[in-house]
Amino acid sequence: MNIALYGKGGIGKSTIASNVAAAAADKEKNVLVIGCDPKGDSTATLNNGERITPILQYMKKDEEITEEKVVEKGYNSVRCVEVGGPEPGIGCAGRGIIVALKKLRKVSNVMKESDLILFDVPGDIVCGGLAVPIRKNYVDKAYIVTSGEYLPLYAANNICKGLKKLGAELAGVICNSRTENAEEEKKITSTFAKKLGTNLVSYIPRKDIVQNCERDGKTVIENKPDSSISRKYKEISRDLESDKETTKPSPLTDKEIRAIIKDA
Ligand code: ATP
Ligand code: MG
Repeated sequence: MNIALYGKGGIGKSTIASNVAAAAADKEKNVLVIGCDPKGDSTATLNNGERITPILQYMKKDEEITEEKVVEKGYNSVRCVEVGGPEPGIGCAGRGIIVALKKLRKVSNVMKESDLILFDVPGDIVCGGLAVPIRKNYVDKAYIVTSGEYLPLYAANNICKGLKKLGAELAGVICNSRTENAEEEKKITSTFAKKLGTNLVSYIPRKDIVQNCERDGKTVIENKPDSSISRKYKEISRDLESDKETTKPSPLTDKEIRAIIKDA
């Protein structure tokens, strides 16, 4: 099963990707995380906070690429790959992803051998370039991460417009809240998900534990396995692995988004 996480910048995609990967690997699954963000931070908490060298960095230096160099074994044997990105202001991130994934396939069977592949994609919008994992059929289904606030919902809705154009399947919405106890956000994101034609998979409150674990260079799953937040990531991992029905999303109008927020 190949999955991509989309959502507004800074909403929590990489944190969810690494924690869900760790949770799935706890169940003896072969899990691979492919970080497609030029920041190269998708897999850091799976590797004790260390950054792994992105494929494009080797390519820029014309260095020979081997599986050992680009596929790192992280927590619980989660395989980690970072694509990297072009120099800021030059080149196209989407093109870089195509080139890097082709190279990865050439030097390694890791994609074929994985039960679950998580693509962590940057940015708000499914633009031509960043839609690459979907356009090139690397991805079976997408999840959208949002909070119950207007801007992340607006971005999430835009992403759905992109997914619709690509004919891609949406598997659900994940609410990563920016407050600790926000019943309203749960209600908003749940209604939003239903209107898109899907459901709210999980509601993750804001908790210091997430950032504390990040500072320790660990996922919450590794560092605080019995915490309530760990249970949330496990809940998402079960949803990812289920063969529940997916849907082609029906995006909302801006007016509809504002009405959902107002009515909550
Ligand atoms: P980008 O679009 O820049 O890649 P992102 O969507 O991947 O961002 P993250 O890097 O995962 O976002 O998260 C941003 C910050 O929010 C991180 O410092 C992370 O530790 C923190 N964070 C994520 N989820 C939670 C949470 N539930 N509670 C507290 N902090 C959180
Ligand atoms: Mg990220």
